[in-house]
Amino acid sequence: MIYTSTNNKKELVDFKTATLNGLASNNGLYTPTHIPILDDKLLEAEAFNLDIALELMKPFVGECIPEEKLKEILSETLNFELPLVKLEPNTYCLELFHGPTEAFKDVGARFMSRVLAYFSKSSNETNHILVATSGDTGAAVANGFHNVPGTQVHVLFPKGKVSEYQESQMTSLGDNIHALEVEGVFDDCQALVKQAFRDNDLRSKLKLSSANSINVARFLPQMLYYFKAFFDVEKDLRSSISFVVPSGNFGNVTAGLIAQMMGLPIRRLIPITNANDTYFKYLSTGKYQAVPSKQTLSNAMDVGDPSNFARIQYLLKQDWNKINEMLPSISVSDKDTLGTIDKLYKEAGYVLDPHAAVGYYGYQHLKQEGELAIILGTASPKKFASVIQQVIPSYESPNVNALSTHKISLPNDYHALLDYLSTIMVSK
Ligand SMILES: *Cc1c(COP(=O)(O)O)cnc(C)c1O
Repeated sequence: MIYTSTNNKKELVDFKTATLNGLASNNGLYTPTHIPILDDKLLEAEAFNLDIALELMKPFVGECIPEEKLKEILSETLNFELPLVKLEPNTYCLELFHGPTEAFKDVGARFMSRVLAYFSKSSNETNHILVATSGDTGAAVANGFHNVPGTQVHVLFPKGKVSEYQESQMTSLGDNIHALEVEGVFDDCQALVKQAFRDNDLRSKLKLSSANSINVARFLPQMLYYFKAFFDVEKDLRSSISFVVPSGNFGNVTAGLIAQMMGLPIRRLIPITNANDTYFKYLSTGKYQAVPSKQTLSNAMDVGDPSNFARIQYLLKQDWNKINEMLPSISVSDKDTLGTIDKLYKEAGYVLDPHAAVGYYGYQHLKQEGELAIILGTASPKKFASVIQQVIPSYESPNVNALSTHKISLPNDYHALLDYLSTIMVSK
């Protein structure tokens, strides 16, 4: 498979280069130049299994990883349950949160960490992963890379803006995982990381890699659970499946789009956002206008400039009408998010996390006759207990490990980050 930059058609690289570089030339995102069409027979199997996952991923990885090794990586990636739970007639939740950090990001992070470990085995340089997070990414990446030899992970998170549970997931590991608590918001963490990647002097001294969802090795394996869910639906209902995807950076829904383009029969992909409605505005006006992110109760989706939008534009050839038809959306308020958590709990005894609640509510406005909706349950409600408790007071808070075990405070200042990294260079 050849990947190109969404901002430079002349750049053509293989899977290994795309994974190691992270970001493509001219600030573009690596995107497959063509989508392989799957063999129809694959969909006739009785159930989803590792061999199907291997067949699906092989064309994207090409010659860069031997088949046996890829199969081993996939079996370690998909080593937790992905149950499809019925909420009401024609509406299901695909629970993607039974992995180690209880969010779908475990799938991408587990795959990518193993792929990077494989690619860097031959080098004896330490790989430094620098990542900004609003909560779930940092936890999943930290867990995926914990004790991976030759790797040091530096997670920048905004002080007081992640839930206690998320913070403990990042700060309780130690070893090669360094949690940096920044005096600022998520956008500040992101800006610090971007500045480090642009700093050629730093990069000549330190081998830096990114682990955000722009990385092909993080978003591509996410297509696998769209297939898994398809096999879990009764055969005669499989032609009417639509996926509702609570979206922030739009990596998850882009993985679904790739599954659909490969030939998985998906009726519609429905990315729903919170008050960060850049995509919804694009659908209504045809104009894409990035704005600063707004803070909401579904904080993992607080993104004002969804980076994977560039991939969607590339894959659907900038066709606004087609994007409207294939990927309809709506924006949902915090008030309606809370109302939905309350309603589903009262009616079905099911606790939706705030992100899935955004999806559920938005879908009620876009529903079609005869459609079977699968809402992606992107995180466990446990991670957002304080939000849930606003409407379900009896909801129990999870046990949180000691918070301050392994964290370093950092002012929102690039020189402070450089000072920190220079001590790491000396000691590691
Ligand atoms: C990251 C995240 C999202 C958004 O996913 P994207 O791929 O960025 O659109 C949604 N829900 C939860 C819980 C997340 O952690």
